[in-house]
Amino acid sequence: CGIVGYIGKGETQEILLSGLKKLEYRGYDSAGIAVFTEQGLEIKKAKGRIANLEEKLDGAPLLGTAGIGHTRWATHGKPSDVNSHPHTDNSHQFSVVHNGIIENYLDLKEELIAKGHVFVSETDTEVVSHLIAEEYNGNLVEAVQRATQRMRGAFALGVLTSHEPDKLVAVRFASPLIIGVGKGENFIGSDIPAILEYTRDVYILDDGEMAVLTTNGVELLNLNGESIAKDIVHIDWDL
Ligand code: GLU
Repeated sequence: CGIVGYIGKGETQEILLSGLKKLEYRGYDSAGIAVFTEQGLEIKKAKGRIANLEEKLDGAPLLGTAGIGHTRWATHGKPSDVNSHPHTDNSHQFSVVHNGIIENYLDLKEELIAKGHVFVSETDTEVVSHLIAEEYNGNLVEAVQRATQRMRGAFALGVLTSHEPDKLVAVRFASPLIIGVGKGENFIGSDIPAILEYTRDVYILDDGEMAVLTTNGVELLNLNGESIAKDIVHIDWDL
């Protein structure tokens, strides 16, 4: 039910966890994060409170320069460790957090299984990570565009791939998503409180808009890949 994401040289895990705690008010039944570490894309997730996730991370914090995090309010598949987000594909090179519902996930799942994909969860979201992997041929932004054109329903997504570790891709359709613009670091969040501790400059995405975040900048696109212009909103209120 909440999404956060970070790219930059800060304390990625801390920033993700602090963002998730700010989104707790939205309600959730499980939580998880994925971080690019020197070992590649590492995912930790746990049913229940964020404290359960923190316990799992305690002895082994994930260090890296990009990550995504999620608090889940289950719609498809019971609350469990394996159904928690982030989800990945069979190559473990792609990682996705999702708020919303993919209405045509069963059709997509059937098609992907026929192509050899093996699913481990009961969620609609896992279809998204496999679909992006299937659509990928060297360009994450294009793969996400093609995947989202096939998806029906509501989605706010944060996507990472270890093929392009300098990039975090976010897209919104009928679920809220904002982009926080920092100096040498950038953020995504379901809501402004998730990132307000770190920046007050945000883009508020509209339906059918996506953002490509790197350490140094944010590019906004529509789902056809055309650049769009949008004003930064400066937040002058406090939590
Ligand atoms: N439909 C997804 C699931 O059940 C996402 C739910 C959410 O927005 O937290 O895993």
